[in-house]
Amino acid sequence: MNNCDIVKDLLPLYADDVCSEESIKAVEEHINGCPTCRSELEKLRQNVSISPQKDGEVLKRIKRRLRIEKLIVGLISVLAICGVMIFGLMYLLNTAESMDVKKYNIPNNLNVTIHGNELYLVVDGEAAAFWYTFPTISDTDGDHMGYGTGFDREKKNGYGITFKQRKIESIAIARIKGKCEIKLFDIEKNKAMDKFFYYDDVNNKEYVLWERDKND
Ligand SMILES: [Zn+2]
Repeated sequence: MNNCDIVKDLLPLYADDVCSEESIKAVEEHINGCPTCRSELEKLRQNVSISPQKDGEVLKRIKRRLRIEKLIVGLISVLAICGVMIFGLMYLLNTAESMDVKKYNIPNNLNVTIHGNELYLVVDGEAAAFWYTFPTISDTDGDHMGYGTGFDREKKNGYGITFKQRKIESIAIARIKGKCEIKLFDIEKNKAMDKFFYYDDVNNKEYVLWERDKND
């Protein structure tokens, strides 16, 4: 093994400043008289000095990417939370619940009036703002069905409505005060309708608001 080979083995250690004093001396002496090993050392030093810069750039790029990823995850989380909240609010606003009839004094706030042949429901009181109205059909057995689903048409004797309210009653689009008339149906064209009622589905109680005069 010649001196150059020994020095080349030592050069990386020399460049990193981890040589013993003896080795440092030997390497420096050799380098002074050997251009090949000197240029070898230059190369090593350049590599050493370039790599921190490169590392820095790579690190910056990684950090930037992590920041973007964090931002995206944050945005998705915010959107997901907003979505859940909107869905929850929609559910509370649009899911019908049986109405507290006593609280809104419903039986006393409802009556029926006739204009010509048309039957109108007259509503009085603020409960109107919380309503959902479900058509309800009654039969001679005293059964009541919303929308007449699965209903025995032969036994049908009356048409009515069942009020429902929103799950959160405090959110109302408008509080209707005073009287409000809602058109129901033409009593001449709907001969099959013998009565119109309001059905309290909590207490299973029917309040007849209009009944056909059998002598007509
Ligand atoms: Zn040499």
